[in-house]
Amino acid sequence: MLNMLTTRPRGTNDILPDEVLRWQYIEDVFRQLCQDYGFTEIRTPVFEHTELFIRSVGEVTDIVTKEMYTFTDRGERSLTLRPEGTAAVARAYLESGLKSGPQPAKLYYLGPMFRYDRPQAGRYRQFHQGGVEIFGTNNPEADIEVIALAVDFYRRLGLQNFELHLNSIGCKVCRPVLKEKLSFFFKTRQKELCLNCQERLAYNPLRILDCKEPQDQEIARGAPDSLSCLCPSCVAHFDAVLGYLKALKIPYLIDKQLVRGLDYYTRTTFEIMVADIGAQSSIGGGGRYDDLVAALGGPPTPGIGFAVGLERVLLTMNKQNTPFPTPKNLDVFIVEADEEASGAALELLFFVRAQGLSADKDFLGRSLKAQMKYAAKKRARFVVILGKEELSRQIVSLKDLSSGEQREVSPAKIKEEIRRRYRQDIVT
Ligand code: AMP
Repeated sequence: MLNMLTTRPRGTNDILPDEVLRWQYIEDVFRQLCQDYGFTEIRTPVFEHTELFIRSVGEVTDIVTKEMYTFTDRGERSLTLRPEGTAAVARAYLESGLKSGPQPAKLYYLGPMFRYDRPQAGRYRQFHQGGVEIFGTNNPEADIEVIALAVDFYRRLGLQNFELHLNSIGCKVCRPVLKEKLSFFFKTRQKELCLNCQERLAYNPLRILDCKEPQDQEIARGAPDSLSCLCPSCVAHFDAVLGYLKALKIPYLIDKQLVRGLDYYTRTTFEIMVADIGAQSSIGGGGRYDDLVAALGGPPTPGIGFAVGLERVLLTMNKQNTPFPTPKNLDVFIVEADEEASGAALELLFFVRAQGLSADKDFLGRSLKAQMKYAAKKRARFVVILGKEELSRQIVSLKDLSSGEQREVSPAKIKEEIRRRYRQDIVT
C-alpha cells in the first residue's frame, strides 16, 4: 500500500544535495550563455488561465487534451500548471510593457513544467526546462540566433553525438495546402490509423505526423512532406536559415516529418536529438511562432523560441560520462576539542565567516575523532581546532586536511595564514 505521507507523487523527483550541484552547474551554464547572447531573464507564474494554453498550444494537441494539470480554484477559475514556457512568456510580453520596449525582445526562463505524461526514464510529470524567446522579428537571422544558442548550450556542457533536426512547416498561406494534402493522404489509410489519429484527421492532420504508435509512424513515412508545400516566401526564409547554418558550420539534418507537438509553430521547427538516452531522445526543441501573439489578441508579432529539457541533458551527461566541475570545498571546519571551548568555538565560527570564509562546525557534541571525520565528509579544506589549552594560550591549531600539516596561529590570523600559504585554493 502506497504511503502518501512518505512517497512523492508519481512522475516527480527529489533533487538531492549531491545532485543539486549538477543542476546548479547546468543552470549556471544556461544563464551565462543566455546573457552572452543578449537575453534577459523573465519569471512567469507556475500556473496560468487554462484558456491561455488551449489558445496557444492548441485545442487538439496531446498536451491540451491529455496532459494538463487543470484545477478550479476557490474563485471558480479554471487554472492550469504550465505545461511549457512559451505561452506564458508571450502572455507576459503582451500584458507588460515589454511589447513597447526595445525590439526584438530577447527573453529567457528556467523552471519546472508539468505534464500528465506516462512516466519513464527521461519523461516525468514535473520536469524542468530552460528556454529562450525572441519577439518582434521575422528575420531568419533570429532563427539562427536561437538555433545556435541551443547548439552552443550542449557544446559548452561537453555533450557528444547530438544532432540538429530541422524542418519548415510553412505559414498561414501554405499550411492549408499541406493540411489538405495530408488529409487526402490519411483518408486513404484512415481505417489503419489508431483511434486518436482517426480523430486528429478531422481537426488537424499534422498531428498524425508526431503520433507515437509504430503503425501510424509507418504510414506517416509515406505522407506528403511540408517542404514540398511551402509558399515562395517560406522557401526563401528556410533557404536563408540553411545558408546561415552552413556559413556558421552548424551541422543539421532535414527531417521532413518534424512538426512538433504544439500548434503554435510556423515555418522553422527544430529538435536536438541524442542517441544515448533511449526512447526519449529529444533533448530540446523549438521553432517559429509568427501567429502566436496575434492569436492571444495582440498585434501581429513574429517570434521564435527554444526549450531544453534539463533532466534529459543530465541523463545524457551521465550516460556519456561528461565531466562536471568539482564542487567547491568548505574552507574551514571548527573542531571543538573539549567542552570548555564550546562557546568560544561558536564565536570563532561566526568570526571566520565574517571574514568571508565558508565555515561550519559540529552541532551534535561529537568526539574529537568523530568531528574530524565529519569535517572530511563535509569536504572541509582546513580544520581549526580549539580547546581549553588553545584558549589559555590564545591560539588555535590550523590543520590542512589535504596535506595533514598542522600549525598554531592566532585566531585573528586564520584567514591571513590560509591566504598566505594556500592562496591558489582560497578565493576571497
Ligand atoms: P516541448 O516543450 O514538448 O517542445 O519539449 C522541449 C523539451 O522538453 C524536450 O526536448 C524534452 O527534452 C523536454 N521534455 C518535454 N516533455 C518532457 C517530460 N515529460 N519529461 C522530461 N522532459 C520533457
